[in-house]
Amino acid sequence: PLMDGQAVDDHQITVCVRKRPLSRKEIMKKELDVITVPTKDTLIVHEPKTKVDLTKFLENHNFRFDYAFDDGCNNELVYKYTAKPLVQTIFDGGMATCFAYGQTGSGKTHTMGGDFNGKVQDCKTGIYAMAAKDVFGYLKSPKYRHLNLTVSASFFEIYSGKVFDLLSEKNKLRVLEDGKQQVQVVGLTERVVDSVDDVLKLIQHGNSTRTSGVTSANANSSRSHAVFQIVVRPMGSVKIHGKFSFIDLAGNERGADTNSANRQTRMEGAEINKSLLALKECIRALGKQNAHLPFRVSKLTQVLRDSFIGEKSKTCMIAMISPGLSSCEHTLNTLRYANRVK
Ligand code: ADP
Ligand code: MG
Repeated sequence: PLMDGQAVDDHQITVCVRKRPLSRKEIMKKELDVITVPTKDTLIVHEPKTKVDLTKFLENHNFRFDYAFDDGCNNELVYKYTAKPLVQTIFDGGMATCFAYGQTGSGKTHTMGGDFNGKVQDCKTGIYAMAAKDVFGYLKSPKYRHLNLTVSASFFEIYSGKVFDLLSEKNKLRVLEDGKQQVQVVGLTERVVDSVDDVLKLIQHGNSTRTSGVTSANANSSRSHAVFQIVVRPMGSVKIHGKFSFIDLAGNERGADTNSANRQTRMEGAEINKSLLALKECIRALGKQNAHLPFRVSKLTQVLRDSFIGEKSKTCMIAMISPGLSSCEHTLNTLRYANRVK
């Protein structure tokens, strides 16, 4: 079969896909699972060519990525091959980013923020927390302990082109760019953290602020990008040594809301679309000098500007896939986007 995708061995950018299992509800509705992961880097979408007999006349779309995670993989394994190797980057004085991309319901928040056991989110099992744990491990390691770094964290949300602080009652924040193109989110809460427990508390606080908003009344998490950042600095210094940004992106299917009858929804859709397109360009050009990148086109790329420039910048993207037949079209869109990021 034809390879739609191609693995490139450029370790500045890692692109992976993760298939989530069919949910109980989907199984009850007899939703067909159209995704297989035959090898550790290949994912196939089996698209039925006819609505009459869904098991016949399949058209297979093959995609290749750095890693393809089947529905049996847990967050720990996904973390190990995506964000974990980038923790060292920030200790070596670089910038790291990890993006969760995909349609609403595909597993972005599950992967980044942690499992939902019933009604509560167990944030210990999310990538944010696992990375935080490793950050403290590096901090005390013989190789890096002499740097005397302190760790702090912030958590904000970008909704409809505006930035809201998730660690302080959803305050709306301004983004400023100085003459040297340094970008600053003015007044962003940044808390010094001394342990994984400190970080877990912040994540919990941020998550609850995210879902209980007053500022953006009809916003839900599928229409906003959530950005969690861990910053390391030499003790007593304001200068950043390294920064790790984790981004739980808005549902990519929202980019198609530009056809909606509701004006607000249309505008939000257009904004999401614009930011995801700009993001793709910025990741593709990661670390390249003098590239005319569309940082200013969207708030998302503007606030992440310093993470895209510089030779030591590294990024990973995890494209999340819903397995069901009814998601087929969104799934193919997600895979094509992820494919072009590299
Ligand atoms: P998104 O943030 O992309 O909209 P969620 O992370 O909220 O999607 O996932 C949607 C639902 O599927 C949630 O109930 C979540 O717990 C569940 N889910 C997602 N990924 C997995 C997975 N890998 N294993 C088990 N359940 C998952
Ligand atoms: Mg989510």
